[in-house]
Amino acid sequence: MELTVEQTINWITRWVDYVKQNTDALNELDTAIGDGDHGTNLNRGTQAVKEAFANEKPTTIPMVYRTTAMALVSTIGGASGALIGTAFLTMARLTKEGETNLEVLLVEATESMKKRGRSDVGMKTLIDLWDPASKAFAKHELTYAKIDEAVEKTKEMKAAKGRSSYLRERSIGHIDPVAKSSSYLFIALLEELGQEK
Ligand code: ADP
Ligand code: MG
Repeated sequence: MELTVEQTINWITRWVDYVKQNTDALNELDTAIGDGDHGTNLNRGTQAVKEAFANEKPTTIPMVYRTTAMALVSTIGGASGALIGTAFLTMARLTKEGETNLEVLLVEATESMKKRGRSDVGMKTLIDLWDPASKAFAKHELTYAKIDEAVEKTKEMKAAKGRSSYLRERSIGHIDPVAKSSSYLFIALLEELGQEK
């Protein structure tokens, strides 16, 4: 399926608003297995995205993704900014090359983050959300329940990447904060597409 420019902006803006509403909760999740700043960092980054849209409204889909990526990477330090920035940059590049199919874009964005982070499923990272969510979306089978399930599944995993991996076994029992914040992106997408809860 293809989104219009307007839908793409609305989708990302919904995500921005989710992050804002859940900043404290995301910080709490990151306090358990990281340095406690993920909500604050991502909120700063996503607010910068919203400002960038307001300053100069993107007129093409590649511009929407590129503006998003640049705002995120320039305002978020840490692993998650670079990785999510990579996802949006990949979508910007592919749409510029003429690939408009959102199913393909999300799967390729996930692959680009795996490469960038040298990570894969089961390592308790945002990949554990992006991979199942993008694949289910590609099969037109993504639901709100599946998104929640993917987030919950990170709880039982032992972190193998990033700061939380230093905790080894002690990382078990906590949700990955960036899997959670990425879940809002996919929830926002289903909402923008009018999928019933
Ligand atoms: P930092 O630890 O630098 O403060 P963030 O808080 O921004 O990083 O993000 C940490 C999150 O980034 C982790 O919870 C995990 O989801 C993700 N992450 C870290 N390293 C990797 C990696 N190599 N591959 C995929 N995801 C990663
Ligand atoms: Mg952090």
